[in-house]
Amino acid sequence: MNDVAIIGAGPAGLTAAIYAARAGLSTAVYEGLLVGGQLTSIDQLENYPGFAQGISGFDIALEMREQAERFGATVVSDTITALEKTDEGFVLTGSSQTYEAKSVIVATGAKPRRFTHKDLSSLEGRGVSYCATCDGNFFRGRDVCIVGGGDTACADAIYLSHICTTVHLVHRRDQLRAHHWYAQKVESLPNVVIHWNSVLDDVVTADGSLAGVVIEDVNTHDKTTLDCAGLFVAIGTNPDTAWLSSLVDCDENGYIIASEGGKTNVEGLFVAGDVRSTPLRQVVTATSDGALAAEACVKYLAS
Ligand SMILES: Cc1cc2nc3c(=O)[nH]c(=O)nc-3n(C[C@H](O)[C@H](O)[C@H](O)COP(=O)(O)OP(=O)(O)OC[C@H]3O[C@@H](n4cnc5c(N)ncnc54)[C@H](O)[C@@H]3O)c2cc1C
Repeated sequence: MNDVAIIGAGPAGLTAAIYAARAGLSTAVYEGLLVGGQLTSIDQLENYPGFAQGISGFDIALEMREQAERFGATVVSDTITALEKTDEGFVLTGSSQTYEAKSVIVATGAKPRRFTHKDLSSLEGRGVSYCATCDGNFFRGRDVCIVGGGDTACADAIYLSHICTTVHLVHRRDQLRAHHWYAQKVESLPNVVIHWNSVLDDVVTADGSLAGVVIEDVNTHDKTTLDCAGLFVAIGTNPDTAWLSSLVDCDENGYIIASEGGKTNVEGLFVAGDVRSTPLRQVVTATSDGALAAEACVKYLAS
């Protein structure tokens, strides 16, 4: 039985692992997909303190993992599908086996939101993507479309503007929701065309792959077809907490509710990062949450 099990190896989980292991707790981090989480989608992380010229998200993820392992944390490749509270602590059910821990930090982040009015699953990998830095290169020298107006949509637009010919940004409002530094940058890029007050209406396909999108003006209801080889969906994220919601209190959107130090309503269960109900979801808040949750865990186990 480990002292602490951390579910998710994004910046929140890895920072919690650094702090917990460094404090002498036996620490296991369970990661279902890719160590680094959303960090691996950030081409240049420019607003994390200490890197004046920015740093690649992938590189900082590798450093965080190495740092956690240097203090003795173990990274286990497994997706946790169930969590049960017992008298001794917690039992975690993974895809391959079960694990036990005296305390748990949930740091499972958030996942890209899909359209509810249009099922694009058959086009995923055939023109439709949820990760510009992962798939952008497939559209080098071609025209692409991004739907969204927040930080992710803007980060995607900046990244894709370097490798694609024209980047269409489709946003349902008349101003971007992203932080102003992202919005300013996007609006200054010559090959980014912003389609204000517009939503995705339909897609055009050819030979089973995406060939274009139809957008609709929300005020005039005029429809326009944009020829593009790629559609990047950046309309927000959802936490994947359905499997936890019977154990822990979540808000109306499924984000876990916590007090100071990431304490949840369940004794010994803490939460950190994007999966938490919080006003800001960034790398710096995820790492800060991770440190606070680990510290709260140390105190909980000592008591
Ligand atoms: C394109 C893009 C650009 C961004 N740009 C910036 C930026 O410039 N600056 C900034 O500060 N932030 C940026 N962000 C946001 C930032 O990346 C996130 O706020 C941060 O990564 C959240 O960290 P986290 O550890 O909470 O979650 P995540 O990074 O989402 O990590 C969660 C991890 O948990 C794993 N996991 C989930 N469920 C399970 C399970 N059941 N079992 C095991 N493992 C599981 C996931 O696979 C994932 O690896 C950007 C995000 C994106 C997508």
